[in-house]
Amino acid sequence: MSDAIVEALRIELGEIVRTDAEILQARRHDYWAASHLREWLDTAMESPRCVVQPTETAQVQALLRYATANRIAVVPFGLGSGVCGGVLTTHDVVLLDLSTMNQTREIDGHNLLATFEAGKNGMEAEEEVAALGLTIGHWPQSIAVSSVGGWISTRASGQFSTAYGNIEDIVYSIEAVLPNGDLVQLGKAPRAAAGPDLRHVLMGAEGTMGVVTGVTLSLRKAPETRAYSAFYANSMPQGIEAQRRIMHADWRPPVMRQYDSIEVKRNFPDHAQPDKALLFMVHEGPAARVAVEIADTARIASEAGLTPAASAVAEEWMGKRNHVVAWKDFFERGVVVDTIEISAPWSKIDAIYSDAVASLRSRDGVVNASAHSSHAYRSGVNYYFSFAAVCAPEAMEEMYFDCWDRVMQATIKHGGGVAHHHGAGRLRKPYLVNDLGENGVALLRSLKAAVDPSGIMNPGNLIPDV
Ligand SMILES: Cc1cc2nc3c(=O)[nH]c(=O)nc-3n(C[C@H](O)[C@H](O)[C@H](O)COP(=O)(O)OP(=O)(O)OC[C@H]3O[C@@H](n4cnc5c(N)ncnc54)[C@H](O)[C@@H]3O)c2cc1C
Repeated sequence: MSDAIVEALRIELGEIVRTDAEILQARRHDYWAASHLREWLDTAMESPRCVVQPTETAQVQALLRYATANRIAVVPFGLGSGVCGGVLTTHDVVLLDLSTMNQTREIDGHNLLATFEAGKNGMEAEEEVAALGLTIGHWPQSIAVSSVGGWISTRASGQFSTAYGNIEDIVYSIEAVLPNGDLVQLGKAPRAAAGPDLRHVLMGAEGTMGVVTGVTLSLRKAPETRAYSAFYANSMPQGIEAQRRIMHADWRPPVMRQYDSIEVKRNFPDHAQPDKALLFMVHEGPAARVAVEIADTARIASEAGLTPAASAVAEEWMGKRNHVVAWKDFFERGVVVDTIEISAPWSKIDAIYSDAVASLRSRDGVVNASAHSSHAYRSGVNYYFSFAAVCAPEAMEEMYFDCWDRVMQATIKHGGGVAHHHGAGRLRKPYLVNDLGENGVALLRSLKAAVDPSGIMNPGNLIPDV
Protein backbone atom coordinates (compact mmCIF):
# COMPACT_ATOMS: atom_id res chain seq x y z
CA MET A 1 0.00 0.00 0.00
CA SER A 2 1.46 3.33 -1.00
CA ASP A 3 2.07 6.35 1.25
CA ALA A 4 -0.37 8.23 -0.98
CA ILE A 5 -3.22 5.97 0.16
CA VAL A 6 -2.39 6.53 3.82
CA GLU A 7 -2.34 10.28 3.17
CA ALA A 8 -5.68 10.04 1.36
CA LEU A 9 -7.12 8.14 4.34
CA ARG A 10 -5.85 10.89 6.63
CA ILE A 11 -7.63 13.50 4.52
CA GLU A 12 -10.80 11.36 4.70
CA LEU A 13 -10.61 10.42 8.39
CA GLY A 14 -8.15 12.76 10.12
CA GLU A 15 -5.97 11.87 13.11
CA ILE A 16 -7.67 8.55 13.78
CA VAL A 17 -5.34 7.14 11.11
CA ARG A 18 -2.25 6.07 13.07
CA THR A 19 1.14 5.03 11.76
CA ASP A 20 3.29 5.20 14.90
CA ALA A 21 5.53 2.16 15.25
CA GLU A 22 4.21 1.12 18.66
CA ILE A 23 0.58 0.77 17.59
CA LEU A 24 1.51 -0.91 14.29
CA GLN A 25 3.59 -3.46 16.22
CA ALA A 26 0.84 -4.10 18.79
CA ARG A 27 -1.85 -4.79 16.19
CA ARG A 28 -0.10 -7.38 13.97
CA HIS A 29 -1.98 -10.39 15.28
CA ASP A 30 -4.36 -11.78 17.87
CA TYR A 31 -3.68 -14.33 20.65
CA TRP A 32 -3.20 -17.27 18.29
CA ALA A 33 -0.40 -19.47 19.70
CA ALA A 34 1.14 -19.83 16.21
CA SER A 35 1.48 -16.06 15.83
CA HIS A 36 3.04 -15.81 19.27
CA LEU A 37 5.39 -18.67 18.37
CA ARG A 38 6.46 -16.93 15.14
CA GLU A 39 7.04 -13.73 17.06
CA TRP A 40 9.09 -15.60 19.69
CA LEU A 41 11.10 -17.30 16.95
CA ASP A 42 11.71 -13.85 15.45
CA THR A 43 10.06 -14.82 12.18
CA ALA A 44 9.36 -11.67 10.20
CA MET A 45 5.73 -10.68 10.81
CA GLU A 46 4.38 -7.78 8.82
CA SER A 47 2.69 -4.87 10.53
CA PRO A 48 -0.44 -3.29 9.07
CA ARG A 49 0.23 -0.25 6.89
CA CYS A 50 -1.84 1.87 9.26
CA VAL A 51 -4.24 1.50 12.16
CA VAL A 52 -7.58 3.32 12.12
CA GLN A 53 -9.06 4.01 15.57
CA PRO A 54 -12.66 5.21 15.14
CA THR A 55 -14.80 6.66 17.90
CA GLU A 56 -18.04 6.73 15.91
CA THR A 57 -19.90 4.55 13.43
CA ALA A 58 -19.79 7.24 10.72
CA GLN A 59 -15.99 6.97 10.65
CA VAL A 60 -16.24 3.21 10.06
CA GLN A 61 -18.66 3.91 7.21
CA ALA A 62 -16.28 6.43 5.66
CA LEU A 63 -13.36 3.99 5.91
CA LEU A 64 -15.22 1.08 4.32
CA ARG A 65 -16.62 3.26 1.53
CA TYR A 66 -13.11 4.40 0.72
CA ALA A 67 -11.65 0.90 1.07
CA THR A 68 -14.24 -0.63 -1.27
CA ALA A 69 -13.79 2.11 -3.87
CA ASN A 70 -10.01 1.66 -3.76
CA ARG A 71 -9.89 -2.10 -3.08
CA ILE A 72 -8.00 -1.79 0.18
CA ALA A 73 -8.04 -4.70 2.64
CA VAL A 74 -9.44 -3.97 6.10
CA VAL A 75 -8.89 -6.27 9.09
CA PRO A 76 -11.14 -5.60 12.11
CA PHE A 77 -9.62 -5.95 15.58
CA GLY A 78 -11.71 -6.10 18.77
CA LEU A 79 -9.39 -6.68 21.72
CA GLY A 80 -7.17 -9.29 20.06
CA SER A 81 -7.97 -12.28 22.27
CA GLY A 82 -8.95 -14.52 19.35
CA VAL A 83 -6.97 -17.78 19.32
CA CYS A 84 -7.38 -18.92 15.71
CA GLY A 85 -5.52 -16.25 13.73
CA GLY A 86 -8.58 -14.16 12.82
CA VAL A 87 -6.30 -11.12 12.97
CA LEU A 88 -3.10 -11.32 10.95
CA THR A 89 -1.74 -8.38 9.01
CA THR A 90 0.48 -7.45 6.07
CA HIS A 91 1.76 -4.07 4.84
CA ASP A 92 -1.20 -4.05 2.42
CA VAL A 93 -3.77 -3.97 5.17
CA VAL A 94 -5.60 -1.29 7.15
CA LEU A 95 -6.16 -2.51 10.69
CA LEU A 96 -9.50 -1.26 12.00
CA ASP A 97 -9.10 -1.08 15.77
CA LEU A 98 -12.56 -1.18 17.37
CA SER A 99 -11.17 -0.90 20.91
CA THR A 100 -11.63 2.88 20.67
CA MET A 101 -15.39 2.43 20.12
CA ASN A 102 -16.07 1.38 23.67
CA GLN A 103 -19.01 3.35 25.06
CA THR A 104 -22.18 2.06 26.66
CA ARG A 105 -25.13 3.44 24.72
CA GLU A 106 -28.00 2.35 26.96
CA ILE A 107 -28.92 -0.03 29.77
CA ASP A 108 -32.67 -0.63 29.73
CA GLY A 109 -33.69 -2.40 32.94
CA HIS A 110 -37.38 -2.52 31.95
CA ASN A 111 -36.83 -4.57 28.78
CA LEU A 112 -33.62 -6.16 30.08
CA LEU A 113 -31.49 -4.90 27.21
CA ALA A 114 -28.08 -3.25 27.09
CA THR A 115 -26.46 -1.63 24.07
CA PHE A 116 -22.72 -1.23 23.75
CA GLU A 117 -20.34 -0.06 21.09
CA ALA A 118 -18.54 -3.02 19.58
CA GLY A 119 -15.18 -2.46 21.23
CA LYS A 120 -16.60 -2.47 24.77
CA ASN A 121 -14.54 -4.68 27.06
CA GLY A 122 -16.65 -7.67 28.15
CA MET A 123 -15.82 -7.45 31.85
CA GLU A 124 -16.56 -3.72 31.93
CA ALA A 125 -19.91 -4.35 30.24
CA GLU A 126 -20.75 -7.07 32.78
CA GLU A 127 -19.70 -4.87 35.71
CA GLU A 128 -21.89 -2.01 34.51
CA VAL A 129 -25.01 -4.15 34.32
CA ALA A 130 -24.08 -5.97 37.56
CA ALA A 131 -24.16 -2.61 39.36
CA LEU A 132 -27.89 -2.54 38.51
CA GLY A 133 -28.53 -6.08 39.79
CA LEU A 134 -28.41 -7.53 36.25
CA THR A 135 -26.11 -9.84 34.32
CA ILE A 136 -25.32 -10.55 30.68
CA GLY A 137 -24.68 -14.15 31.74
CA HIS A 138 -21.91 -14.48 29.13
CA TRP A 139 -18.62 -15.36 30.76
CA PRO A 140 -15.95 -16.48 28.30
CA GLN A 141 -12.72 -17.25 30.12
CA SER A 142 -11.35 -14.25 28.20
CA ILE A 143 -14.07 -11.89 29.46
CA ALA A 144 -11.54 -9.33 30.71
CA VAL A 145 -9.59 -9.27 27.42
CA SER A 146 -12.32 -9.57 24.76
CA SER A 147 -14.91 -7.19 23.30
CA VAL A 148 -18.66 -7.56 22.80
CA GLY A 149 -18.15 -7.11 19.03
CA GLY A 150 -15.53 -9.88 19.12
CA TRP A 151 -18.03 -12.16 20.90
CA ILE A 152 -20.48 -11.68 18.02
CA SER A 153 -17.81 -12.04 15.35
CA THR A 154 -16.50 -15.35 16.71
CA ARG A 155 -19.80 -16.86 17.96
CA ALA A 156 -18.37 -17.02 21.46
CA SER A 157 -19.50 -19.21 24.37
CA GLY A 158 -19.49 -18.26 28.01
CA GLN A 159 -18.74 -20.64 30.86
CA PHE A 160 -22.39 -20.45 32.01
CA SER A 161 -23.77 -21.37 28.59
CA THR A 162 -25.55 -24.58 29.54
CA ALA A 163 -28.33 -22.50 31.12
CA TYR A 164 -27.87 -19.05 29.62
CA GLY A 165 -26.95 -20.00 26.07
CA ASN A 166 -24.11 -18.99 23.79
CA ILE A 167 -23.76 -15.50 22.35
CA GLU A 168 -26.33 -16.22 19.61
CA ASP A 169 -28.91 -16.83 22.35
CA ILE A 170 -28.00 -13.61 24.18
CA VAL A 171 -27.70 -11.14 21.30
CA TYR A 172 -30.79 -9.04 20.60
CA SER A 173 -29.63 -6.82 17.76
CA ILE A 174 -26.50 -5.94 15.85
CA GLU A 175 -25.52 -2.64 14.26
CA ALA A 176 -23.02 -3.20 11.47
CA VAL A 177 -21.37 -1.42 8.58
CA LEU A 178 -21.31 -3.38 5.33
CA PRO A 179 -18.24 -3.27 3.08
CA ASN A 180 -19.90 -0.62 0.85
CA GLY A 181 -20.36 1.65 3.87
CA ASP A 182 -24.09 1.01 4.34
CA LEU A 183 -25.31 0.80 7.92
CA VAL A 184 -27.63 -2.05 8.94
CA GLN A 185 -29.50 -2.56 12.21
CA LEU A 186 -30.39 -6.24 12.45
CA GLY A 187 -32.86 -7.33 15.14
CA LYS A 188 -35.84 -5.23 16.16
CA ALA A 189 -37.99 -7.25 18.53
CA PRO A 190 -37.62 -10.22 20.92
CA ARG A 191 -38.35 -12.63 18.08
CA ALA A 192 -39.04 -12.34 14.36
CA ALA A 193 -40.37 -14.33 11.42
CA ALA A 194 -39.38 -11.64 8.97
CA GLY A 195 -37.26 -13.67 6.61
CA PRO A 196 -33.87 -15.21 7.32
CA ASP A 197 -32.19 -13.98 10.48
CA LEU A 198 -29.60 -11.64 8.96
CA ARG A 199 -27.81 -11.24 12.28
CA HIS A 200 -26.23 -14.58 11.44
CA VAL A 201 -24.45 -13.09 8.43
CA LEU A 202 -22.32 -11.20 10.94
CA MET A 203 -22.27 -13.77 13.74
CA GLY A 204 -19.19 -15.91 13.35
CA ALA A 205 -18.10 -14.01 10.22
CA GLU A 206 -14.80 -13.10 11.91
CA GLY A 207 -14.55 -9.77 10.15
CA THR A 208 -15.17 -11.11 6.63
CA MET A 209 -18.67 -9.69 6.00
CA GLY A 210 -18.55 -6.22 7.52
CA VAL A 211 -17.85 -4.47 10.79
CA VAL A 212 -19.98 -4.83 13.89
CA THR A 213 -20.20 -1.36 15.44
CA GLY A 214 -22.88 -1.85 18.10
CA VAL A 215 -24.39 -4.76 19.99
CA THR A 216 -27.59 -5.01 22.03
CA LEU A 217 -27.58 -7.92 24.45
CA SER A 218 -30.47 -9.44 26.42
CA LEU A 219 -29.91 -9.28 30.15
CA ARG A 220 -31.07 -11.31 33.15
CA LYS A 221 -31.71 -10.46 36.73
CA ALA A 222 -28.75 -11.51 38.86
CA PRO A 223 -29.56 -14.97 40.29
CA GLU A 224 -30.91 -15.21 43.83
CA THR A 225 -28.68 -18.15 44.77
CA ARG A 226 -25.55 -19.91 43.63
CA ALA A 227 -24.58 -23.40 44.82
CA TYR A 228 -22.14 -26.13 43.82
CA SER A 229 -22.00 -29.91 43.49
CA ALA A 230 -19.35 -32.40 42.36
CA PHE A 231 -18.95 -36.10 41.60
CA TYR A 232 -16.28 -38.63 40.67
CA ALA A 233 -16.72 -40.86 37.63
CA ASN A 234 -14.79 -44.06 36.91
CA SER A 235 -14.24 -42.98 33.32
CA MET A 236 -15.00 -40.08 31.00
CA PRO A 237 -17.79 -42.01 29.19
CA GLN A 238 -19.47 -42.75 32.53
CA GLY A 239 -19.48 -39.03 33.44
CA ILE A 240 -20.66 -38.06 29.95
CA GLU A 241 -23.58 -40.48 30.32
CA ALA A 242 -24.51 -38.80 33.62
CA GLN A 243 -24.44 -35.41 31.86
CA ARG A 244 -26.65 -36.75 29.07
CA ARG A 245 -29.23 -37.96 31.59
CA ILE A 246 -29.12 -34.63 33.46
CA MET A 247 -29.73 -32.70 30.22
CA HIS A 248 -32.50 -35.09 29.18
CA ALA A 249 -34.19 -34.71 32.56
CA ASP A 250 -34.36 -30.99 31.60
CA TRP A 251 -32.01 -29.70 34.27
CA ARG A 252 -29.84 -26.80 33.18
CA PRO A 253 -27.04 -26.17 35.67
CA PRO A 254 -25.37 -23.09 34.11
CA VAL A 255 -21.95 -24.71 34.50
CA MET A 256 -21.40 -28.43 34.02
CA ARG A 257 -17.74 -29.35 33.54
CA GLN A 258 -16.07 -32.72 33.49
CA TYR A 259 -12.28 -33.22 33.66
CA ASP A 260 -10.34 -36.36 32.86
CA SER A 261 -8.01 -37.69 35.55
CA ILE A 262 -4.97 -35.93 34.04
CA GLU A 263 -6.68 -32.55 34.10
CA VAL A 264 -7.99 -33.13 37.64
CA LYS A 265 -4.41 -33.74 38.77
CA ARG A 266 -3.18 -30.64 36.94
CA ASN A 267 -5.97 -28.22 37.84
CA PHE A 268 -7.33 -29.50 41.16
CA PRO A 269 -4.57 -31.62 42.74
CA ASP A 270 -6.24 -31.57 46.17
CA HIS A 271 -9.28 -33.32 44.67
CA ALA A 272 -7.49 -35.88 42.50
CA GLN A 273 -8.26 -39.58 43.01
CA PRO A 274 -6.41 -42.28 41.04
CA ASP A 275 -7.86 -42.62 37.52
CA LYS A 276 -11.09 -40.81 38.43
CA ALA A 277 -12.72 -38.19 36.23
CA LEU A 278 -14.43 -35.30 38.01
CA LEU A 279 -17.77 -33.73 37.13
CA PHE A 280 -18.85 -30.52 38.84
CA MET A 281 -21.78 -28.17 38.48
CA VAL A 282 -22.59 -24.59 39.38
CA HIS A 283 -26.31 -24.17 40.05
CA GLU A 284 -27.96 -20.74 39.90
CA GLY A 285 -31.44 -19.28 40.11
CA PRO A 286 -34.33 -19.04 42.57
CA ALA A 287 -33.32 -20.80 45.80
CA ALA A 288 -36.22 -23.26 45.66
CA ARG A 289 -35.37 -24.38 42.12
CA VAL A 290 -31.66 -24.66 42.89
CA ALA A 291 -32.42 -26.94 45.87
CA VAL A 292 -34.52 -29.27 43.70
CA GLU A 293 -31.93 -29.19 40.90
CA ILE A 294 -29.12 -30.15 43.28
CA ALA A 295 -31.13 -33.03 44.74
CA ASP A 296 -32.27 -34.42 41.41
CA THR A 297 -28.95 -34.06 39.56
CA ALA A 298 -27.30 -35.86 42.51
CA ARG A 299 -29.84 -38.67 42.18
CA ILE A 300 -29.18 -38.94 38.44
CA ALA A 301 -25.41 -38.89 38.94
CA SER A 302 -25.65 -41.64 41.55
CA GLU A 303 -27.85 -43.79 39.30
CA ALA A 304 -25.25 -43.38 36.55
CA GLY A 305 -22.61 -44.79 38.94
CA LEU A 306 -20.93 -41.56 40.05
CA THR A 307 -19.89 -40.92 43.65
CA PRO A 308 -19.95 -37.61 45.56
CA ALA A 309 -16.89 -35.32 45.56
CA ALA A 310 -16.25 -32.16 47.58
CA SER A 311 -18.20 -29.31 45.99
CA ALA A 312 -15.35 -26.99 47.04
CA VAL A 313 -13.68 -27.99 43.77
CA ALA A 314 -16.30 -25.97 41.86
CA GLU A 315 -15.73 -22.95 44.10
CA GLU A 316 -11.99 -23.33 43.53
CA TRP A 317 -12.62 -23.29 39.77
CA MET A 318 -14.79 -20.15 40.12
CA GLY A 319 -11.86 -18.38 41.79
CA LYS A 320 -9.33 -19.03 39.02
CA ARG A 321 -11.46 -19.54 35.94
CA ASN A 322 -10.45 -16.42 33.98
CA HIS A 323 -6.71 -17.08 33.89
CA VAL A 324 -4.94 -16.11 30.64
CA VAL A 325 -1.77 -18.10 29.86
CA ALA A 326 1.36 -16.50 28.38
CA TRP A 327 2.48 -18.65 25.42
CA LYS A 328 6.03 -17.33 25.71
CA ASP A 329 6.50 -18.94 29.15
CA PHE A 330 5.93 -22.35 27.54
CA PHE A 331 8.14 -21.70 24.49
CA GLU A 332 10.99 -20.66 26.76
CA ARG A 333 10.70 -24.01 28.55
CA GLY A 334 10.88 -25.82 25.20
CA VAL A 335 7.18 -26.68 25.18
CA VAL A 336 4.52 -25.96 22.57
CA VAL A 337 0.92 -26.06 23.84
CA ASP A 338 -2.62 -25.25 22.81
CA THR A 339 -6.25 -26.08 23.45
CA ILE A 340 -8.75 -27.31 20.85
CA GLU A 341 -12.52 -27.32 21.32
CA ILE A 342 -14.88 -29.46 19.27
CA SER A 343 -18.40 -30.76 19.83
CA ALA A 344 -20.43 -33.84 18.91
CA PRO A 345 -23.69 -35.64 19.59
CA TRP A 346 -23.70 -37.80 22.73
CA SER A 347 -23.39 -40.98 20.65
CA LYS A 348 -20.12 -39.83 19.01
CA ILE A 349 -18.27 -37.94 21.68
CA ASP A 350 -16.62 -40.89 23.50
CA ALA A 351 -14.96 -42.20 20.32
CA ILE A 352 -13.63 -38.72 19.52
CA TYR A 353 -12.18 -38.40 23.02
CA SER A 354 -10.38 -41.73 23.00
CA ASP A 355 -9.09 -41.40 19.42
CA ALA A 356 -7.92 -37.79 19.78
CA VAL A 357 -6.06 -38.47 23.02
CA ALA A 358 -4.54 -41.71 21.65
CA SER A 359 -3.47 -40.01 18.43
CA LEU A 360 -1.81 -37.13 20.30
CA ARG A 361 0.00 -39.56 22.64
CA SER A 362 1.35 -41.56 19.72
CA ARG A 363 3.35 -38.58 18.50
CA ASP A 364 6.93 -38.44 19.80
CA GLY A 365 7.43 -35.43 22.03
CA VAL A 366 3.83 -35.10 23.22
CA VAL A 367 3.94 -35.00 27.01
CA ASN A 368 0.31 -34.14 27.66
CA ALA A 369 -2.93 -35.07 25.92
CA SER A 370 -6.05 -34.50 27.98
CA ALA A 371 -9.52 -32.98 27.89
CA HIS A 372 -12.50 -31.64 29.74
CA SER A 373 -16.06 -30.94 28.69
CA SER A 374 -17.55 -27.54 29.46
CA HIS A 375 -20.77 -26.93 27.46
CA ALA A 376 -23.70 -29.37 27.36
CA TYR A 377 -26.80 -29.46 25.14
CA ARG A 378 -29.82 -31.70 24.75
CA SER A 379 -28.18 -33.32 21.74
CA GLY A 380 -24.56 -33.49 22.82
CA VAL A 381 -21.56 -31.89 24.43
CA ASN A 382 -18.21 -30.28 23.66
CA TYR A 383 -14.70 -31.42 24.44
CA TYR A 384 -11.83 -29.05 25.09
CA PHE A 385 -8.55 -30.85 24.41
CA SER A 386 -5.17 -29.68 25.70
CA PHE A 387 -1.84 -30.77 24.31
CA ALA A 388 1.75 -30.08 25.30
CA ALA A 389 4.79 -31.25 23.35
CA VAL A 390 8.49 -30.90 23.98
CA CYS A 391 10.68 -30.15 20.97
CA ALA A 392 13.42 -27.93 19.59
CA PRO A 393 12.31 -24.38 18.73
CA GLU A 394 12.69 -24.97 14.98
CA ALA A 395 10.37 -28.02 15.21
CA MET A 396 7.64 -26.29 17.21
CA GLU A 397 5.54 -25.01 14.34
CA GLU A 398 5.34 -28.41 12.63
CA MET A 399 4.57 -30.04 15.99
CA TYR A 400 1.84 -27.46 16.66
CA PHE A 401 0.00 -28.00 13.37
CA ASP A 402 0.39 -31.78 13.56
CA CYS A 403 -1.18 -31.91 17.05
CA TRP A 404 -4.04 -29.77 15.79
CA ASP A 405 -4.50 -32.03 12.79
CA ARG A 406 -4.68 -35.13 14.99
CA VAL A 407 -7.60 -33.73 16.98
CA MET A 408 -9.33 -32.41 13.87
CA GLN A 409 -9.01 -35.81 12.12
CA ALA A 410 -10.35 -37.75 15.14
CA THR A 411 -13.30 -35.34 15.28
CA ILE A 412 -14.00 -35.63 11.57
CA LYS A 413 -13.64 -39.43 11.56
CA HIS A 414 -16.33 -39.87 14.20
CA GLY A 415 -18.77 -37.24 12.94
CA GLY A 416 -18.16 -34.28 15.25
CA GLY A 417 -18.08 -30.55 14.51
CA VAL A 418 -14.55 -29.11 14.30
CA ALA A 419 -15.16 -25.81 16.14
CA HIS A 420 -17.26 -25.35 19.24
CA HIS A 421 -16.54 -21.75 20.26
CA HIS A 422 -13.17 -20.30 19.30
CA GLY A 423 -14.15 -19.74 15.67
CA ALA A 424 -12.19 -20.84 12.62
CA GLY A 425 -9.86 -18.01 11.67
CA ARG A 426 -6.88 -18.94 9.51
CA LEU A 427 -6.23 -22.01 11.65
CA ARG A 428 -9.37 -24.05 11.08
CA LYS A 429 -10.11 -22.75 7.58
CA PRO A 430 -8.95 -26.00 5.92
CA TYR A 431 -11.29 -28.05 8.15
CA LEU A 432 -14.41 -25.93 7.70
CA VAL A 433 -15.62 -28.15 4.86
CA ASN A 434 -16.25 -30.89 7.42
CA ASP A 435 -18.94 -28.81 9.10
CA LEU A 436 -20.35 -27.00 6.04
CA GLY A 437 -19.91 -29.57 3.26
CA GLU A 438 -18.63 -28.63 -0.23
CA ASN A 439 -21.92 -26.98 -1.16
CA GLY A 440 -22.07 -25.15 2.14
CA VAL A 441 -18.58 -23.76 1.51
CA ALA A 442 -19.74 -22.70 -1.97
CA LEU A 443 -22.74 -20.96 -0.40
CA LEU A 444 -20.46 -19.16 2.07
CA ARG A 445 -18.25 -18.01 -0.82
CA SER A 446 -21.33 -16.78 -2.73
CA LEU A 447 -22.54 -14.88 0.33
CA LYS A 448 -19.13 -13.30 0.73
CA ALA A 449 -19.04 -12.32 -2.95
CA ALA A 450 -22.49 -10.72 -2.67
CA VAL A 451 -21.80 -8.80 0.53
CA ASP A 452 -18.18 -7.93 -0.18
CA PRO A 453 -17.69 -8.00 -3.99
CA SER A 454 -14.36 -6.19 -3.75
CA GLY A 455 -13.11 -8.72 -1.20
CA ILE A 456 -11.82 -6.06 1.19
CA MET A 457 -12.93 -7.59 4.50
CA ASN A 458 -10.24 -9.62 6.27
CA PRO A 459 -9.00 -11.44 3.16
CA GLY A 460 -7.53 -14.88 3.80
CA ASN A 461 -9.55 -15.40 6.98
CA LEU A 462 -12.24 -18.02 7.62
CA ILE A 463 -13.45 -18.66 4.07
CA PRO A 464 -11.73 -21.70 2.52
CA ASP A 465 -9.55 -20.92 -0.49
CA VAL A 466 -10.93 -21.98 -3.87
C1 LIG B 1 -7.26 -17.16 27.62
C2 LIG B 1 -8.36 -17.15 26.61
C3 LIG B 1 -9.57 -17.73 26.94
C4 LIG B 1 -10.62 -17.75 26.02
N1 LIG B 1 -11.81 -18.25 26.41
C5 LIG B 1 -12.87 -18.23 25.57
C6 LIG B 1 -14.13 -18.72 25.98
O1 LIG B 1 -14.32 -19.14 27.11
N2 LIG B 1 -15.14 -18.68 25.08
C7 LIG B 1 -14.96 -18.18 23.82
O2 LIG B 1 -15.92 -18.17 23.04
N3 LIG B 1 -13.77 -17.71 23.41
C8 LIG B 1 -12.72 -17.71 24.25
N4 LIG B 1 -11.51 -17.21 23.84
C9 LIG B 1 -11.33 -16.69 22.47
C10 LIG B 1 -11.62 -15.18 22.32
O3 LIG B 1 -11.54 -14.51 23.54
C11 LIG B 1 -12.99 -14.98 21.69
O4 LIG B 1 -12.95 -15.48 20.37
C12 LIG B 1 -13.46 -13.51 21.66
O5 LIG B 1 -14.80 -13.48 21.26
C13 LIG B 1 -12.64 -12.62 20.74
O6 LIG B 1 -12.98 -11.27 21.01
P1 LIG B 1 -11.97 -10.09 20.70
O7 LIG B 1 -12.66 -8.82 20.95
O8 LIG B 1 -10.69 -10.28 21.43
O9 LIG B 1 -11.77 -10.30 19.15
P2 LIG B 1 -10.45 -10.26 18.23
O10 LIG B 1 -9.49 -11.30 18.66
O11 LIG B 1 -9.94 -8.86 18.15
O12 LIG B 1 -11.07 -10.66 16.83
C14 LIG B 1 -11.60 -11.94 16.61
C15 LIG B 1 -12.14 -12.03 15.17
O13 LIG B 1 -13.30 -11.23 15.03
C16 LIG B 1 -13.09 -10.15 14.14
N5 LIG B 1 -13.68 -8.97 14.79
C17 LIG B 1 -13.43 -8.50 16.03
N6 LIG B 1 -14.23 -7.45 16.31
C18 LIG B 1 -15.00 -7.26 15.21
C19 LIG B 1 -16.02 -6.34 14.88
N7 LIG B 1 -16.42 -5.40 15.74
N8 LIG B 1 -16.60 -6.43 13.66
C20 LIG B 1 -16.23 -7.39 12.77
N9 LIG B 1 -15.26 -8.28 13.04
C21 LIG B 1 -14.65 -8.22 14.24
C22 LIG B 1 -11.60 -10.07 13.91
O14 LIG B 1 -11.28 -9.63 12.60
C23 LIG B 1 -11.18 -11.52 14.12
O15 LIG B 1 -11.36 -12.26 12.94
C24 LIG B 1 -10.44 -17.19 24.74
C25 LIG B 1 -9.21 -16.59 24.41
C26 LIG B 1 -8.19 -16.57 25.33
C27 LIG B 1 -6.90 -15.91 24.95
